[in-house]
Amino acid sequence: MIKRKKTKKIKVGEITVGGDAPIRVQSMTNTYTSDVASTLDQIRRLEDAGCELIRVAVPDRLSALSLGKLKSKMKAPLIADIHFDYRLALISIKEGVDGIRINPGNIGSKKKVEEILRKAKEMGVAIRIGVNAGSLKKDILKKYNGPAPEALVESAIEHIHFFEENEFFNFKISVKSSQVLTNLVAYRMLSERCDYPLHIGVTEAGGIFSGLVKSSIGIGLLLYEGIGDTIRVSLTGDPIYEVRAAFAILRTLKIRDRGVDIISCPTCARCKIDLIPLVEEIEKRIAHIETPITVAIMGCEVNGPGEAKEADVGIAAGKNGGLLFSKGKIIEKIDKSHLADRLIEEIYRFIEKKNI
Ligand code: SF4
Repeated sequence: MIKRKKTKKIKVGEITVGGDAPIRVQSMTNTYTSDVASTLDQIRRLEDAGCELIRVAVPDRLSALSLGKLKSKMKAPLIADIHFDYRLALISIKEGVDGIRINPGNIGSKKKVEEILRKAKEMGVAIRIGVNAGSLKKDILKKYNGPAPEALVESAIEHIHFFEENEFFNFKISVKSSQVLTNLVAYRMLSERCDYPLHIGVTEAGGIFSGLVKSSIGIGLLLYEGIGDTIRVSLTGDPIYEVRAAFAILRTLKIRDRGVDIISCPTCARCKIDLIPLVEEIEKRIAHIETPITVAIMGCEVNGPGEAKEADVGIAAGKNGGLLFSKGKIIEKIDKSHLADRLIEEIYRFIEKKNI
């Protein structure tokens, strides 16, 4: 059983982050924010996938001025990602965003950060202090001989003190590095030194393959140690995968249960059916399902019946087809041409019964 560290609670729009609130799943759009139609389309897909906090990049005035239109048409809290220009943060707040992500170190001056804090406080907007190994101040980099965990934490603590001096407390913090081990040590150190909610993730983790491995290790280990109140899996690809991966990590650690957990074998010379395309097809066709359910898709009689019996619904392949299991019982023998359709039908039947 994971014992989660109790952090302070903050509000981002209607969503609570930290304390005993569920560990929140975040993602970020990769459209041009000023292209409102495309951004909204992606926001809807993210919301459908279960994304609870949605961040958009605000690189220019036009993007900032598009935020009100986005906000009026979305359900999840909207977070503006700001770098360098504090005026973009002020416009974003005026446009009605729920949160701002800044790295106070690259905003230019304390006065400018103070102005953001003042406006955010006035409008009830949350802030994430987003310290990143790629944009640490020169003096800190020199002191620690590069972006070491201590450098990330010192920078974060400095910003935390500044926020506290300005009586701004509605914030969370991240100290991200693309190096999983640096990330891990930095978050552990930060978690010991403050009780503010932590947003965790491995930044710039790479494409789907490398990003999933790095994020599963980097985020998974921290969550297992009870650290983290909100997560983002950073992937070079469709952000929908980030949300699916985040829920898969939470599900694997038995922290939150959402969607389908597929149990399938790697296949071998004993495999009785064309399992790889079958699993790919089923994964695609049930990706939108929110109800927690375990589905086994197994290649032969060695481990197939055992796994299929343990799952909510499952198939254990045999000669020319397979046995369909539901709640531990064989309910039918299926011909190989109908495996996918029948399994999916049974999944829906199971969900319907579960939701009654
Ligand atoms: Fe091979 Fe059967 Fe095991 Fe699948 S379940 S890996 S087909 S032995």
